[in-house]
Amino acid sequence: MSLTLDPLAILLVGVAIGLVVLFFLLPRYGPHYTSKLTCPCCRKSFNFHWIPGATIASLVQRNYRVLKCPYCHKKSTFDVAATRVRTARANKSKVKA
Ligand SMILES: [Zn+2]
Repeated sequence: MSLTLDPLAILLVGVAIGLVVLFFLLPRYGPHYTSKLTCPCCRKSFNFHWIPGATIASLVQRNYRVLKCPYCHKKSTFDVAATRVRTARANKSKVKA
């Protein structure tokens, strides 16, 4: 057993670090958005926090999410991009009136 690092081991370590950043660091510390969604069933509105492009579901579904309403617990498809209300951390350079 040798301790020399071959290119494949370095690549695997790089992929592992990339996955950790993608699934643990970005969702917590990366930019995320808040959408104000209105349930089509009970007409109550609620806020939904989401991270653009950080989850596999968002890559497949683009800007649509199937969510359970916190009030009536029925599943509905929401367009989270169209209902986006503000950015949590990505608006440091811009000041909105
Ligand atoms: Zn509802």
